[in-house]
Amino acid sequence: MTHAHPLKLFNSLTRQLEAFQPVHPGEARVYTCGPTVYNYPHIGNMRAYVFADVLGRTLSYKGYKLSHVINITDVGHLTDDADAGEDKLEKAAQASAQSIWDIAKHYTQAYWADIAALNIRQPMQWSIATDYVPAMIEFGKRIADKHCYQLDSGLYFDVSTVADYGRLARAATEEGEGRIEQVDGKRHPADFAIWRKTPPGEKRQMEWDSPWGRGAPGWHLECSVMSGELLGFPFDIHTGGIDHREIHHPNEIAQNQAFCCSGGLDVPANSGANLWMHNNFLVERSGKMSKSSGEFLRLQLLIDKGYHPLAYRLMCLQAHYRSELEFSWDGLGAALTRLKRLVMAVAGLRAQAAPATPPGPRFAAFLDRFDAALSDDLNTPVALTVVEEVAALKKVDAGEKLAAIAAMDAVLGLDLLAVDRADLRLRPRTATITEAEIESTLAARKAARAEKDFATSDALRDQLAAQGVEAMDGDPLGWEWKLGEG
Ligand code: AMP
Ligand code: ZN
Repeated sequence: MTHAHPLKLFNSLTRQLEAFQPVHPGEARVYTCGPTVYNYPHIGNMRAYVFADVLGRTLSYKGYKLSHVINITDVGHLTDDADAGEDKLEKAAQASAQSIWDIAKHYTQAYWADIAALNIRQPMQWSIATDYVPAMIEFGKRIADKHCYQLDSGLYFDVSTVADYGRLARAATEEGEGRIEQVDGKRHPADFAIWRKTPPGEKRQMEWDSPWGRGAPGWHLECSVMSGELLGFPFDIHTGGIDHREIHHPNEIAQNQAFCCSGGLDVPANSGANLWMHNNFLVERSGKMSKSSGEFLRLQLLIDKGYHPLAYRLMCLQAHYRSELEFSWDGLGAALTRLKRLVMAVAGLRAQAAPATPPGPRFAAFLDRFDAALSDDLNTPVALTVVEEVAALKKVDAGEKLAAIAAMDAVLGLDLLAVDRADLRLRPRTATITEAEIESTLAARKAARAEKDFATSDALRDQLAAQGVEAMDGDPLGWEWKLGEG
């Protein structure tokens, strides 16, 4: 497969497209900010991991040996990204009367289930924040004298001690600063906690001894520590959602600069990573994305309504990761149809042949365009259309065509060679009728129609409809029935 095009990625730090130059030849080291496990992830959160997965798969396909770390935040993330509010996990534990460790375990498992359902590859390591508290204390000790000061509430980072603070955000705006000034005694509104002391007389479920008193680490510290420890500074790429450009990543960068000798950000490596990449948001106009709304948009809700989770993955790929993407059920339905067409094309090929690698010269121009699209800052919308063009090619060898599609799908991750056509049928969880019942009623209806007994045929059709099954005569995709929402 052709890899002729140099990989160009958009660096949020320099605000430009840059050719990827690995720090260690032949390797790519990537760190992704992971979930805070105090609740289920919503599908917007999962867009961030689909993006990181496509980035990782692209680096693998380009031949780099990938080392990918995703963290699990089980301590320190407050209800406000600044230093105000309660710890999200402590709060969830109080609300549910469960131990914080049980809460973290439950939501970590739920997050991993979504990761698997979306065919997101396992990273080299899931790093769990609470495993790194001693390392966080060591990191804090190294930067404390030159860059931090103590208040009654804990140890704070003085952002004026590093050059170019906030360059990533370019948002040292009045508004931004106003939002951060929550703690009495801070020298600058943007200063942030490295260590938060447990207030006198209180006891937290998660707290540790430190040179700055018993307490818990500030949220930003964990990512600096885990990325530096597991990937080594500077590493290649740091990813996260676009909201992290404002506070979390500028603060991580300031910590990294302090740790790695305070150099300014005209040299991107001083930030700890050469490239900082951010996915834009998935938005939903009626507010169902908010975890505080009753039935928020979890992947499981999509599955319960009958959508295959990979339809959501395809929906993500239809948009460029730096564009906002609007969620709608119609949009998801359209993505499901697109996935069905691809899966059916591949199923037809698999019935005829095994993949014949490498694909022959007929496919070279397509594979080159696929490579060009991905190399252009991960242009998955264009890459997807190339896969569809190949799937539609006539008079080509089935095995070679299958191999070409497989090679492209290794990057897009739609699992086209493994998903079964029947799994893509819209099948809400509330439906009770079995597929066998549907098939036998449809067979009886076919027989009635063959004998021109239209009264029976219509009666059978109505009987199915009463159970939520719509018979689909002449469906262009050859689907004979679908289940509506019961
Ligand atoms: P959190 O668990 O809140 O730390 O978020 C996990 C990841 O999801 C972070 O990278 C966020 O930036 C990202 N994120 C949050 N909301 C959205 C959204 N609506 N669309 C895309 N990414 C999001
Ligand atoms: Zn982070």
